This record gives sequence, structure tokens and C-alpha cells, in this order.
Amino acid sequence: MAKKIGLKRKYELMTRDLAWDTTYQDMDDVYPYDSFEGIKVHNWDDWEDPFRLTMDAYWKFQAEKERKLYAVIDSFAQNNGQLGISDARYLSAIKLFLTGVSPLEYQAHRHFAHLGRNIRGTGAQVAAQMQSLDELRHAQTQIHTISHHNKYFDGLHDFTHMHDRVWYLSVPKSFFDDAVSAGPFEFFTAISFSFEYVLTNLLFVPFMSGAAFNGDLATVTFGFSAQSDESRHMTLGLEVIKFLLEQDEANVPIVQHWIDKWFWRGHRLLGLVGMMMDYMLPKKTMSWGEAWEMYFEEQGGALFDDLARYGIRPPMHADIATNEKDRISHEVWSTFYQYTHAAGFHTWDIDDEHKDWLSEKYPDTFDKFYRPRYDMWKDAAAEGKRFYNMALPQLCQTCQIPMLFTEPDDPTTTCFRNSEYNGDTFHFCSDGCKYIFDHEPEKYIQSWLPVHQIFQGNCGGAEIPDVLAWYHLNMGVDNMAYEGSPEEALWNEWMAARRVGAQV
Ligand code: FE
Ligand code: ZN
Repeated sequence: MAKKIGLKRKYELMTRDLAWDTTYQDMDDVYPYDSFEGIKVHNWDDWEDPFRLTMDAYWKFQAEKERKLYAVIDSFAQNNGQLGISDARYLSAIKLFLTGVSPLEYQAHRHFAHLGRNIRGTGAQVAAQMQSLDELRHAQTQIHTISHHNKYFDGLHDFTHMHDRVWYLSVPKSFFDDAVSAGPFEFFTAISFSFEYVLTNLLFVPFMSGAAFNGDLATVTFGFSAQSDESRHMTLGLEVIKFLLEQDEANVPIVQHWIDKWFWRGHRLLGLVGMMMDYMLPKKTMSWGEAWEMYFEEQGGALFDDLARYGIRPPMHADIATNEKDRISHEVWSTFYQYTHAAGFHTWDIDDEHKDWLSEKYPDTFDKFYRPRYDMWKDAAAEGKRFYNMALPQLCQTCQIPMLFTEPDDPTTTCFRNSEYNGDTFHFCSDGCKYIFDHEPEKYIQSWLPVHQIFQGNCGGAEIPDVLAWYHLNMGVDNMAYEGSPEEALWNEWMAARRVGAQV
């Protein structure tokens, strides 16, 4: 009887032992991308494979997960799962997630495939290939959720087209474009470490518990199915960083700069999540401020204590990000409220119960700065003068978010920075975004800024209806306040039918 080989040996046979060094061609010609960033790798065999997962085992695991996932998706569809959500307002949060994040899953799929080909370490190649397949699966499962909700709700009918054009979707899009146009090690640091390891809990945990609380099984399903992949991705992120730091001391300052940059870019992107948590979930889970304390201040703090022995310090501007925790969700929501006429989802006037929840969660800021604003807007709406801001905002050259954030020491003053480059002036929302630009101005002067593009006549025309048509958004259906929307009417009709049904 053949002796069973151990898992470690089996893994080696199935991965590293399948690799070879080229002889007809120079290795540097075969792998042209993994050296130009200045990262020094002396020995790829030092790479520890935390999962020791072979491809055959990978396919078996994933196939099992897929079977469960599609069973749940089918039953959600057959049982009219959309009737079980808490309220149709919830869908606006999901629209933002699915139009903003799902295309990034596909970009991640493409770029990890690129890394699987272009990194010369075999362990890292295998990990990147598996992650590439994971990300394709994530994109597919999320598209199934889009497909389901699109049958009943508005704004999900052309998400790929919208992702390339709509002003606020340029925020997640440009984040990922920045990462995929960087070198391979910067991409790993940006996506695998800064996003997936340091910040991902702030996206996925609140989102999935939000979906569960609000009865959205279609979203919970893809979330749970992605979760076990996610733990593998996080481990890869940490492994890459430790590997780079251990290979050569010269790598430390390069990696530190990437951590500083991508922490701040990630933090800005997550402002959208803060808004969703604090404003868009009819049944709340935790506040953005609480999530930041738990997932960044506590868990992130422990991580950076651990990395100190490699000479890595906490990300630059982390103090500012923490300082912003009790205001960004209000600042972002207020902006979307004013510009809902140009968005593919709805906003609404929040009720007193919601305001009380916010003042309990944000005792230092909510009643003082934001409650009066919402009261004023609600009164205006009651008089038929719902506030829509018709002036296009200045955008940050780096994160592409409108200038809506405030000074670190003054929540009543808009934060505004600028830099001169080649005789032009560029504008930023924060010290973090200015810092990123100043380090790579040639990259960011190319930013496709939606507002600038509208003014240059590149977005279908000069009037809002022209631009919305160019976005493929339906006027009066996908956009505007929730109050009075076709979605609200449909939801009320469903709920009335349910009440009648319950009486029979
Ligand atoms: Fe993913
Ligand atoms: Zn910015």
C-alpha cells in the first residue's frame, strides 16, 4: 500500500516543485514587473504559505460553497424574498454597494490574475491565482443579487455603464484604478494589506450584519460565501507585508509610504460605508463611530504594535481619521441629500427616532451641528421646497470626493488644501490627499474628475437631464428623494396588500 504523503510535502509537490527558473530567457525578462518599484527580494523560498491549499482542494471547497449559495439564492427568488426586507429605503444602501463595489471585485479578479503571472515567487503566484478566482466568484454572486433586486427596484439596470460614468462611483473606481496602475507590490500593499487586512472589517461586517438585520438574504448569502475567501485574503495581505519587511531593510520605507497612502485612500472610500451605516439602514446595527473604535482603533492598534518590530509605525494621518469618526457619516449623508437629483439611489428626511439614535451615538457632535440642519431641511420639504443643490461641487484631485470634509480641529469649516504643479493649481479635501498627490503628481494630474468633465462638455451636455441621460439614469425614477418616488409607492402597495392578506 502506498504510504500517504503529508500535507506539507503534498503541497510542496503541487506548487513550488512545479516551478522552474528559465534558462533560454533571462528571468528578469520573463518577470519584468516585480523589480521597478525598488523592492528587494533575496529569496522567494522564504515565503510562508499560510494555507497550504492545493488547487484540487481549492476547487472542492469552492464547489461546495457554490452549491449552498445557489440553493439560497434560488429560494430567495422563489419565495419573493424582497418582500421580507425591513423597508425599501434599505435598497438605497444596497444600490450604492452593488454599483460601487461589485465592479471592483471584477477588477480585483483581473489584477490578481496579472499578479499570478508576473510575481516570480511560486507561493505568491498560487495565492494570487486563487484570489483571482475568488474575486471572479464574488463579482458573479453579487451580480446575481443585482439581477434579483433589479426586477423590483430602480437604479440597478446598467451598473457597469454607471460605474464608468457616475460622479460618486468615480470614488471607488478611481481607488481601484490607482491600485491596478501601480506596481505589483504596491497593489498587494494597497488591496491585500491596507484594504483587506486593515480596513475590510469596516466594510464587510457592518454590511453583512446590516443586511441580516434588514432581512436581505440575497446579500447575506454572498457575504457569507465570500467570508471564508476573505480570511484567506487577509492572511495573504499580512504575509506579503511581513515577507517584504523581512527580505530587506531597504523595503521598509517604501512599504511605509504605501501603508500611509493606502490607509488614507481606504479611509476616504469608507466614508460611504459610514453614511450607509448611520443613515441608510432602517434597522441599525452599530454606528460608524463604534465600528471605527472596534475595528481600527482597537484591532488596528494591536496590529501596528505588532508591526513595530519591523520598523513600521501606524499610518500617517491615522489621528485625523480617528478625529473624524464622529462627523464624516453626517457630512457624507448631507452631501448626498443635496445631490440626490443626480444619484442612482434615494435619500430622505430622517425622523425623530433616527435623530435621537444619532444623538445618542454622537453626543458631542450630532445635536450641535447636524440636527438643526436636518430639522431645517425637513421643514423646507414640508413646505414643498425640498432642498436640492444645483451648484456643482469642487472635487478633491486625489480621492475625487466633493469638498465636504471639515478641518480636523473645527467641524464648521470646510477643509481645503492645494498644491501647485507645472503652473496649475490642484485641490484637495485633506492633508492626506494632498500628501498622496505631492508624492506622485504625474499620476494624479490625469484624474478623470466628473465635475471637471461635465464643465468641459464631455458628459452628454450642460444640463442635469443631459448628464443623467449620459449616465443612463431615469429622471424621476432612479434619482430624487425617496418621498414621492415610484419605489416608495411600490413598497406601500406591497405593504398594503400584505395587511389585507393578513386580515383574510
Ligand atoms: Fe472580493
Ligand atoms: Zn480627498
